Formats: sequence, structure tokens, C-alpha cells
Amino acid sequence: MTISRRNAIKLAAASSLSAGAILAGSGGSAMAQTAPNAAVPAADREQRPGWHRVAIGDAIVTVVLDGLRPGDGPHPTFGENQSAEAVATLMRENFLPETRFVNGFNPALVEIGDMLVLFDTGMGAMGRANGLGKLVERMGAAGYAPGDVDLVVLTHMHGDHIGGLMEEGQPTFPNARYMAGQVEYDFWTSAEAKAGPRAENAKLVEARVVPLKDKITFLKEGAEVVPGITAHEAFGHSPGHMIFKLVSGGQTLWLTADTANHFVASLQRPDWEVRFDMDKAEAVATRKRVFGAIAESRAPFLGYHMPFPGIGYVESSGEGFRFVPASYQFDV
Ligand SMILES: [Zn+2]
Repeated sequence: MTISRRNAIKLAAASSLSAGAILAGSGGSAMAQTAPNAAVPAADREQRPGWHRVAIGDAIVTVVLDGLRPGDGPHPTFGENQSAEAVATLMRENFLPETRFVNGFNPALVEIGDMLVLFDTGMGAMGRANGLGKLVERMGAAGYAPGDVDLVVLTHMHGDHIGGLMEEGQPTFPNARYMAGQVEYDFWTSAEAKAGPRAENAKLVEARVVPLKDKITFLKEGAEVVPGITAHEAFGHSPGHMIFKLVSGGQTLWLTADTANHFVASLQRPDWEVRFDMDKAEAVATRKRVFGAIAESRAPFLGYHMPFPGIGYVESSGEGFRFVPASYQFDV
């Protein structure tokens, strides 16, 4: 094995950091919190070049990683109604850290017919200070300019999905029309939302979505986005959260958006409550219904917060589902 000079420097830095942590640490628990990869900046841990492309029949799907966000957790964000120990145990069983996790953000572009359709827009400018908001840059690396996007579809209106709609007050995708759930838009623009616990998000909708409303087509259950893609209600994570079914050439891909947001906690334990789910009970019922149907169909799905590139399968297992990340199924 050869170690490049660059890596040798990094390794040296890593070992001195570890030594520093040992000297500074006053107890065992502090050591357990130390990220094993701390010497590598978060942005450098991402797979390069940050996009991934598969064919679904005649449709070309390009998943773009908007960025990675390491943080404490998954408890209590995931398993809010569980003990920290119960969540830590499940993480340990799955070879995951017990008190740290990494959230990722997977917008996707679909070339279908003569349309280029973008599903969700990442964090945009508000994420850049934290290494997020890379959608446009990485679309460029994948061969697409913002002006190429014909249609932007919003699965729901949380900040990590609508943040990239505007740059400096102007639409990021200058030639695009938009589609979004009717129920979702009606909720976020209501007096109830503006006065409620999610008022900050309602403000963001006001800034990023409302200025585009004349170009938005509002969707209900079963609506056609373009030929080959339909919209389906999957409420709970947000009041009007929608998922999408892509069918082309006899193949299917579900875009499940935020129906499940941790590939272990949300799929193996769909009953566990999630802090970001606005209606916890409805979100649980929706997770079980959607992934039950996907498991039965054996079709692949793309989850917005599944580990990049976010595509995999589920099978029913125990009280929930087992996630099987896609490997070479699309390359044979
Ligand atoms: Zn999200």
C-alpha cells in the first residue's frame, strides 16, 4: 500500500488530533463523541462528483447531492417518543454511531419525453455557510444549466426543499414552470401557519414560493406531472406532502421525498416518532402504507434523505422494513 504525501499529512494531522482529544478529554463519554473522521472536513467526505445517474426505462434520473449535514442524533430527532438508549441500541445493531448522524439532501433531475423535471431544490443560499446548497453547481458538473429546467416539482415546502428556488430574489431556474401540492400551499399560506409554531417556515414560503404562484400548477391525488409521472398524497411529514411515481419502459421508480428520513430509524421502526413530522400519527400511517406497497412491488425508490445517491429497495421485516441500497441493478 502506498500513502500519498497528501494523505500522509492528513493521517499525521488525524493522529495528532486524536492525541489532543485524549489529553483534553476528562471522561470516557467525551471520547465516544469524537467523530472518527474529524480530520477530514465534512465537505471532503462526500462522494465525488456529487451526482449519480440511472435509467428508468427511457427516463434518465440524475440525483444531485445538495450537501451533507453532520450533527448530533439521531435521537431525539428520530425516535422522539423513545429512550435515547433504545435509539442508540438500534444504531449499534446497524453499525452506525450512537450519538452522531449525517443528514443528506438529494434533489433529482428527470429527463423524460422532451422535459427536464427537477424534484425539490435543496437549501440554496441559506445552506452555503454550512456546505449545503450545492445543487446548481453540481447540476453543472452533471451537464445541466439552471435554464435547462422546464419544470420544478416541490414535494413539500420545508426549507431544505424550497430553499434553492430563488437566488438573490430572482428565480434560480429562469425558464421553469412549477408544480406543488394544493393542500401544502394552502396550509403554508394560511393565517394558521403564519401564527403557528412553524411561522419561520411560513415566512420562507412567502419569500421563496409565493412570488412564483402564477407559474405554479397545483396537484392533487393522481395528478399527472408529465406523461409517465404521477403525484400521490403522502400526508403527515407535512400537511400536503406528496410523493411521485415514475413509470417508463415497464420500469418504476418511486420518489418518496420525506416519507422516511433515516434509512434505519424510519424504516426499521416506522412507528417511531420523528420531530420533523408535523402530524406524527399520520406520518407513521403513511410510512407503513407507502413502504408496504413499495416492498410488495419490489420497485426501487429514491428518498430525499436516504444516504446518497438515495436509491434502494425495501423488504418487509419484523415491525418495519429493511433498506437495501441499490448496487449494480441499474448497470447490468
Ligand atoms: Zn426534507
